[in-house]
Amino acid sequence: MKGTHFIAVLAVAALGLSNLNAYASSSTLTNQVTRKVAHASLAKQDSYRQVLLERFLKYTTYDSQSSEKKQITDVQIETAKKLFAEIQSFGLNVTLSDHYYIYVEIPSNVKGNVPTLGFSCHYDVTPDNPATGIKARLIEKYDGQPIALENGQVIDPAKDNGSYLPTQIGKTIVTSDGTTILSADDKAGVSIIMTMLQTLAQNPGKKHGKIQVVIAPNEDVGRAAEFIEETPYNPDIAFDFDGGVDGEVVVGNFNAEQVLVTVKGHPGHQSHAAENGYLNAWFPACVLGAGLCPVTTGGKPLPLPNKSVGKQGYVELHHIDYPANTPSVAVMDFRLRGFNQAELDQWKEDLHRIIPSVEETYGVEISTEVRRNYGNVGEAIHPEAMNITRRAFAAAGVTPDFKEERAGTTASMFLIKLGKGAFTIFTGQNNPHAFTEWLSEDDMYKSYRVSLNLIDEVVRMKSTK
Ligand SMILES: [Zn+2]
Repeated sequence: MKGTHFIAVLAVAALGLSNLNAYASSSTLTNQVTRKVAHASLAKQDSYRQVLLERFLKYTTYDSQSSEKKQITDVQIETAKKLFAEIQSFGLNVTLSDHYYIYVEIPSNVKGNVPTLGFSCHYDVTPDNPATGIKARLIEKYDGQPIALENGQVIDPAKDNGSYLPTQIGKTIVTSDGTTILSADDKAGVSIIMTMLQTLAQNPGKKHGKIQVVIAPNEDVGRAAEFIEETPYNPDIAFDFDGGVDGEVVVGNFNAEQVLVTVKGHPGHQSHAAENGYLNAWFPACVLGAGLCPVTTGGKPLPLPNKSVGKQGYVELHHIDYPANTPSVAVMDFRLRGFNQAELDQWKEDLHRIIPSVEETYGVEISTEVRRNYGNVGEAIHPEAMNITRRAFAAAGVTPDFKEERAGTTASMFLIKLGKGAFTIFTGQNNPHAFTEWLSEDDMYKSYRVSLNLIDEVVRMKSTK
C-alpha cells in the first residue's frame, strides 16, 4: 500500500539531508556518509533533490490555514516562526514583520550594477477545505493507475483531476490521504524557495546579485499584499513561485477592481411613499445597476460585458445592499475584470457619464468608490523578464508555457502596492484547494533548478546595463 511506501521512502530521503544543520536531529547517518555529502558541490544540484522533497513532506505537516474572518490564524503564526527559524539556521539575514511576512535579503557578491532579483511565495493554505493534520502519501514510480484515497476520493488519469498524471508514469508524486487537501499550494513554492536559499547559503561561491525574498501570509484569502510595506521588498525583476505544472508561466492576468456606487435618497414612511419618495434610492439604483451592465445611455453595449470567456473582460453587479436598515441608501458592488486597464477605465468613464442624468431624474445623490484588488502583471513587467525566463527554463531543460490567467496571483496583488509585476512560475501543483490535490516531484525539482538559473541570468544582465 501507499502508506508503507511512504515510511520506506522517508528513510531514504533522510540520506540527502545529512549535510543540513536544520535536519541534524532527523539524521541517523554515520560520520562517513555525512562527510561524503558535506562536500556536495553546486555542480551536483541533484544532491538537493531529496532535500527538496523531504522539506515539502515536512511542510505539509505544518498547519497554516488562513481565514477570511481573522487577520492571521495561530497556526499561520506557528508556521511563520518555524520557517523564520529555519532560515536563521542557514545563517541568512531574515526578518519576521509585525504581520508575519518573512523577508530575506542576500547582498550581491558580484561587482557592478546588477538588478535586484525578487522571489515570492505564500505559506498560508486555503480555508476552503480541511487542511489540519495533513498526511501526505508519497508514491514512487507511479504506475499509471487511478489513485484511490480515503473519503471516496479518486485521482483518475482519465479525468480532469488527473489529466497530467499520464506524464508522471515512473515518476514520484505526492497526494493527501483524501481527508484533507495536500497544501502543495503553496508549500511547493515555499519548499523551492527555502531550498534555493539553503543552496545559496551553502554554496557561497555561486555568483548572484542582490536577492530579496518574501514569503507572504494571506494569499489564499486575497490579502497577500496587505502589509507588504512592512518589508523592504521592492525588487527590479521578480518571480512568484506558486504556479502549476509542465513549465507553466503566468505572464498576465486580469486587472481587478471593485466599484462601490452609493445612491442616497430621502428617508420616509411607507404611508407617504408617493409624496416623500420612500425607497427612492432603490429604484434609481436598479436603473443604474441594471441599465449599466448591458448598455450605455446611448443604448450601445459597454466594452465590458457581464458574461465573457477567454481574454474578454467583464463587469458583474456583485451585490446590492441597504446599509443598517436605511432604504433611502443603496450600495451597489460592481466587480470589473479586464486584461487591459484601459477597458476598466473606459467603463468607469461611462459610469460617470450616466450618473448625472440618474441623479437629476430621481432626485438622488450618487457617489462612487474604486478599490483596486489586483493588477495585470503583464502590464508592469521588467522588459527583460521574458528573455530571462526563456533562458533559465532552457538551462533546466524545460519548455516554457506562457499563459494568461482569468484570476489574480500574489504577484498581481503586490503590483497594486509596488507598481511592478512578476511572472508566476510552475511549482508542480495540481488541483489546488481540492481533496485530490497532488504534486509532481519532478516538476517541483525542475522549478527549483529554474530558480537558480534565474539568479545566473540576472547576473548576466550586468553587461547590458
Ligand atoms: Zn497559491
